[in-house]
Amino acid sequence: MSLTLVWDGQTHLFESRAHPRGSVHHNALVVKRLQKHIHLLLIGILGAEPSGSAILKIAREADEISALEQEAVIYANQLKSIQGKYVPEFYGIYHGEVMGSPVACMLLEYCTPGARISPDERNRKIMLAACAVHAAGLMHCELLSGHNLVMSGKDIKIVDFSGAVPHRCYGATPTLHPGRGGDSSQGCRELVALERVYGVFSGAAFPAASPGFVNPFAEENVLYVLARRVVGMVMPQ
Ligand SMILES: [Zn+2]
Repeated sequence: MSLTLVWDGQTHLFESRAHPRGSVHHNALVVKRLQKHIHLLLIGILGAEPSGSAILKIAREADEISALEQEAVIYANQLKSIQGKYVPEFYGIYHGEVMGSPVACMLLEYCTPGARISPDERNRKIMLAACAVHAAGLMHCELLSGHNLVMSGKDIKIVDFSGAVPHRCYGATPTLHPGRGGDSSQGCRELVALERVYGVFSGAAFPAASPGFVNPFAEENVLYVLARRVVGMVMPQ
């Protein structure tokens, strides 16, 4: 696989190390700079006019290239099953030279917002995406600021896995209601912190579990059957 990239009128050739003999060759045109290392591309199969959009993430220094390669490994492995749903599609990482210096560039799906969704629905989708990343075996480590949460159609996708670390998620649950969800003292650190910002109690003071608090609707509570029966009498189904 290879990538022919046109940037400021100059043409650069990049190769995929993972698929050096792959038959897919892309050509791409850098359209505009979105952030320091992130650009918007028009991309297409070689020989045709570039017509689709993609994100180009570029690295020039040795440590940046190494970090980008590590991020590409994460997209291609841990995140493979949730690409396109909770994180962008990963199109590959390519290596080449620009003015004699090594450069690596990663191509990703360009996410664009669709119709507006309510703040509650947005928060719900943020928690679903975060839980999917954790279930995939990663802690993102930079989610609380919101900078790495992007709208894609009506969905939320999580981006930038340059700081992600391997993670086994114990006792994580999106709902931390005392007696029903996880205990915040034992739950997953990142999901607990996200739950406080984006979870079901994000619009109200976060309830602290206290020894005196009993939730009669929690199944483990001895009052659960009685509570359900009372509700059943008041609101027959
Ligand atoms: Zn976790």
